[in-house]
Amino acid sequence: MPASDYEILDPRFKKLVNGNASVRQLYTGCQWAEGPAWFAAGRYLVWSDIPNNRILRYDETDGQVSVFRQPCGNTNGHTVDRQGRLVSCEHGGRRVSRTEFDGSITTIADNWQGKRLNSPNDVVVKSDGSIWFSDPSYGIDNDYEGNQAESEIGRCNVYRVDPGNGKIEAVITDMVRPNGLAFSLDESTLYVADTGATHVEGHPAHIVAYKVAANGKKVSGGKPFAKCTAGLFDGFRLDEQGNIWASAADGVHCYAPDGTLIGKVNVPEVVANLCFGGSKRNDLYITGTTSLYMVRVMVNGAKTY
Ligand code: MG
Repeated sequence: MPASDYEILDPRFKKLVNGNASVRQLYTGCQWAEGPAWFAAGRYLVWSDIPNNRILRYDETDGQVSVFRQPCGNTNGHTVDRQGRLVSCEHGGRRVSRTEFDGSITTIADNWQGKRLNSPNDVVVKSDGSIWFSDPSYGIDNDYEGNQAESEIGRCNVYRVDPGNGKIEAVITDMVRPNGLAFSLDESTLYVADTGATHVEGHPAHIVAYKVAANGKKVSGGKPFAKCTAGLFDGFRLDEQGNIWASAADGVHCYAPDGTLIGKVNVPEVVANLCFGGSKRNDLYITGTTSLYMVRVMVNGAKTY
């Protein structure tokens, strides 16, 4: 058992992991792996290989990996909505799209006030069906993971798509490069990672906690929740106890709801994103640069679908 797979920094973390469970590499051969999303009924995981403009699929039943979609608009973050449909952030397509049950693809958002989005990065669906996504510039900064272009909006915002009328509102306009995002279990807090340090030297690499308004449509405040101690936070998810499992340069960092870094899962590559999967949502799938990893943990992921 590689004890080095974990760093226990607080006794609370000991209960969340099993020292016998090692981090397994399930696939390698990506250029930049991102955006894992688990499909419970099909027992498979899809994830993005952004520079290679493809979505891959890992089949839990036989361990096989195949190409799910290529080209795919250089997808980045994914989620599964409350109906079980794939929602994708597309760098190349500069939109958020949804794959319908019949396989057709619908545009959810591609502009704000008539200006094209930059390059949607990560997305979550709230229990009311609203779709919240970040729109930094990484997919238009160069041709590596999208198509180089000027920002029409000139800012990097977080947006909310109304489930009723499809209207797109900017809900966070004060971040430098908003990136991964997730709601607290009771949806009273929206956590958002800011990777602005890639563009503004010295900008804090942190997750910010915003208070969600009573009507669930706006956020306010914005208090630093946790500062990254290795590289930058990118995507993250919550378990059903409210702990935050966040991507970082040396693996996955786990934060208690009070913001304490309680432990780490060490991964041999820079981690960009993760999600819980498996029939019990206790398999932590991790996209780490060239590879897909998985480790079974002792806590279940928050139920978001
Ligand atoms: Mg991201």
